[in-house]
Amino acid sequence: MKKIIVLGSTGSIGTNALEIIRHSEGEFELVGISGHKNHKLLIEQIREFKPKYVSVGTKEGYEKIREEFPELTVYLGEEGLKELAGVKEYDILLTAVSGAVGIEATVEGIKNEKRIALANKETMVAAGPYINKLLKQYPKACIIPVDSEHSAIFQSLLGGKRDEVKKIIITASGGTFRGKTLEDLKDVTVEQALKHPNWSMGRKITIDSSTLVNKGLEVIEAHELFGVSYDDIEVVVHPQSIIHSMVEFKDRAVIAQLGAPDMKLPIQYAFTYPERKVNEVIEPLDFFKLNGLTFERPNTKVFKGIELAFRAGRIGNTMPAVLNAANEAAVDMFLRGKIKFLTIYEILERAMERHIPVEIESVELIKKIDKETRNWVYKEYER
Ligand code: NDP
Ligand code: MG
Repeated sequence: MKKIIVLGSTGSIGTNALEIIRHSEGEFELVGISGHKNHKLLIEQIREFKPKYVSVGTKEGYEKIREEFPELTVYLGEEGLKELAGVKEYDILLTAVSGAVGIEATVEGIKNEKRIALANKETMVAAGPYINKLLKQYPKACIIPVDSEHSAIFQSLLGGKRDEVKKIIITASGGTFRGKTLEDLKDVTVEQALKHPNWSMGRKITIDSSTLVNKGLEVIEAHELFGVSYDDIEVVVHPQSIIHSMVEFKDRAVIAQLGAPDMKLPIQYAFTYPERKVNEVIEPLDFFKLNGLTFERPNTKVFKGIELAFRAGRIGNTMPAVLNAANEAAVDMFLRGKIKFLTIYEILERAMERHIPVEIESVELIKKIDKETRNWVYKEYER
């Protein structure tokens, strides 16, 4: 039996992970969970799964949980996430919090020599070079990607040797606004941007999908996870989201992983790798219900997210952390109705222009740059 801690158990990935564990027939045991503001759901999860360790984001939630479950070890806030990841008795840490707040807990999990099932892409974007250095220092720790594209690449890479890879092809649904012009996007509302055609996800990543910044972050994530140069990463729009990504080898063989657009498979695979397990909640893909698989070039003139990420990634060092922080602040403001949709790109561009990148030598440095960038964005755009 594998012991699992889920950071962000109250979120979209988190609840999918709990569904996998619920139907794993004793394969997995949930020993720790964390939520931020939704302590109501967190309490329901404690009642059902009886974990030993819990972390919660608010004082109110902390007190309620302490009162109802006096025997439980309860942690609080950002420090609490770190403490939870630092607990000894578990095998796999699923990092499914949203945003750069996941960095320190991931670092703690690596130092704790655990398997990290990484959903939290912002960690790899903002701190990739640092995380990779740390993985070398702690060779018993490893990262298995959960992001569907990266899980697909990870699985496809098993079809050849690393030095035989020609390029990585990341598929993109194209988002809610595929086919729209800049004029169409000028006045789109939050509700429109939150309607994703294929995937049901948290609010932040759904907006990132509609700007294609999500795909940009995934390009940087792929570069950091698989060590492939930016020249050998390509994005292809595939609106049906059935092919989750591909690897082209030097003999021109292309190996892909296909599946229904559902995160349960990549989550479970990150738990079971190198094995595969039956789980009744994972739906099979029915080819006879598909109306074809199509492909197109992303419209990078309208959706600047991919190009901006390539730019940040190629500059490297702290630039991707700035892109990520500016994006988190911009999406937060868009969701609160403070800025227009296209202003998100303007913010990313301006934040990058004013930043002079330096080498990432510590998590503290990333945190400092992250905070400084957010503060600048709020100061410039919040009214
Ligand atoms: P959600 O918004 O649905 O969930 C986020 C989780 O993180 C919740 O449990 C939330 O707690 C918690 N959280 C939010 N802010 C904080 C904070 N400041 N401190 C601690 N915990 C916090 O997001 P998703 O599940 O959609 O995404 C999670 C991560 O997985 C992201 O990094 C995303 O990019 C990545 N991902 C998601 C995919 C998806 O299909 N959803 C696909 C691929 C990657 P609460 O709700 O209690 O406030
Ligand atoms: Mg993805």
